[in-house]
Amino acid sequence: MARSDFQTLPGTRDLLEPASGRVRTVVSTFAELAEGAGFGQIVTPMFEDVGVFVRLGEASDVVAKELYTFTDKGGRDIALRPEFTASVCRAFVQNRPVTPWKTWYAGPSFRYDKPQKGRYRQFDQVGAEVIGSNDPDVDTELIALAWRFYQRLGLTDLTLLVNTLGDAAERPTYLAALRTYLEANAGELSEQARVTMAVNPLRVLDSKRPQDRAVVEAAPLLGDFLSDDAAAAWERVLGGLDAIGIPYVVEPKLVRGLDYYTRTTFEFTTDALDAAQNAVGGGGRYDGLVAALGGPEEPGVGFALGVDRTVLACEAVGAFGDDEPPVDVWVVATTGGTDGLELVESLRSAGIRADRAYDGRSMKAQMKRADRSGAAIALIVGESEAAAGTVSVRPLRGEAEQAPVDRNEVVNRVAELLAGD
Ligand code: AMP
Repeated sequence: MARSDFQTLPGTRDLLEPASGRVRTVVSTFAELAEGAGFGQIVTPMFEDVGVFVRLGEASDVVAKELYTFTDKGGRDIALRPEFTASVCRAFVQNRPVTPWKTWYAGPSFRYDKPQKGRYRQFDQVGAEVIGSNDPDVDTELIALAWRFYQRLGLTDLTLLVNTLGDAAERPTYLAALRTYLEANAGELSEQARVTMAVNPLRVLDSKRPQDRAVVEAAPLLGDFLSDDAAAAWERVLGGLDAIGIPYVVEPKLVRGLDYYTRTTFEFTTDALDAAQNAVGGGGRYDGLVAALGGPEEPGVGFALGVDRTVLACEAVGAFGDDEPPVDVWVVATTGGTDGLELVESLRSAGIRADRAYDGRSMKAQMKRADRSGAAIALIVGESEAAAGTVSVRPLRGEAEQAPVDRNEVVNRVAELLAGD
């Protein structure tokens, strides 16, 4: 089959080094911080009964337009997960862990989105969820976890937008007021916004179209409709952020894509990315989703961060620096025997990062390769070393001279050199 017959599908990519290593760095940084804050990992299946995701709200784009669905050979209606929260809630209902349950995750999500830079059909997310606590401090600590993650990566050019969506109880009163207002001004809205208005008026608030902005600017605010409980919780979240020194911008028009959000909602944006894809992550409370999936009335709160966009943003601000040299030792062997093979394997078994050339290249070609490799040390076995039972140890940086070392001692010697002795 000719090479050009198959290419990755639209919105999917191969990640080779250094991109793949950067994804690993982002995920391991998140894992370390989440575990350090008392979260345990959950791994859920990448596909589920489509009903798990439909509970997210049939009016949301993610469910209405972007879901990857198929029927399996057993006739089941299945969807690739478009996000993790619904799966985590399904897993909570199924496994009933002790509450409050704090869990983190990492892996790919799938959405039939319009592909462009920073927007893919398969993309990676990391995230965390807490199920079973109403305490607003949980919201604050989740925001702090995400904030610390970005800081640790060096993505300092970050804006945290926060808002409250109130409780399900006050939502109908607010929606009625919003709908009345939007209907009164429908003539000035874009056609898309008029369609959205009929299905989910809340979503009109996050329309990016300039035509809609003017109408949205003067729309009634949910913040003016809050119950005493929801208002007190909101004060506590903002006070918590102040207390731990995390800067935020209250954005009363911040409503998020999925219908099940209540109370605290937040989003992280960065100027390091194009405006259209500047959201690197977001989350909020979803009191009600667990019950919608057949579970008890347990509240939940969490966030998902886009790994691909985080990598792009970190690259834009130079946060990754130089990519580490892949190996510390380069083995050069020209005897034609098994010296090269034995040496790299004994180094690797001792935990030393080592590589070599193949295909019987000349001494000159192999030395050139060693120089280019970025390794700190070359180990050389030519005919004379093989005859003497030694290996020549040649530092590739600094002033030190090449020196012969007994074959049985060489791994220890290299370990000492790398440790800086
Ligand atoms: P959401 O569940 O839509 O709030 O997504 C959470 C985060 O995942 C967003 O802030 C993005 O960083 C990322 N994300 C969502 N959709 C995509 C996509 N199609 N391609 C890349 N990243 C995405």
